[in-house]
Amino acid sequence: MTKDRCEICGYEDEAGTVKKYHVIPQEIMEQAGVTHTRIRKLCQNCQDELNHWYATNVSDITYDTGIQRFRNKSPQEILREYEVSFQSFTRHKRVQQKIT
Ligand SMILES: [Zn+2]
Repeated sequence: MTKDRCEICGYEDEAGTVKKYHVIPQEIMEQAGVTHTRIRKLCQNCQDELNHWYATNVSDITYDTGIQRFRNKSPQEILREYEVSFQSFTRHKRVQQKIT
């Protein structure tokens, strides 16, 4: 049996806890009309942390300076925000690993 390796923290596992993870949640992909999904292999810890990271970093409203009020973001904008959040999460984890 091959070992699966977490692409973020490097954790190796044979018991199947390293799973495929959709960087962008599927319902967001569907709303944005995107079919090509980016999938990463992540361990359970990183998945939990990333879900929490998304919950605190991705918001679905934005202040629009053009109309001078808050409005709901479009699915494309939310999708981009997930991508940016994923990148900042991987940076955050890399910094953490250097410290510990
Ligand atoms: Zn991990």
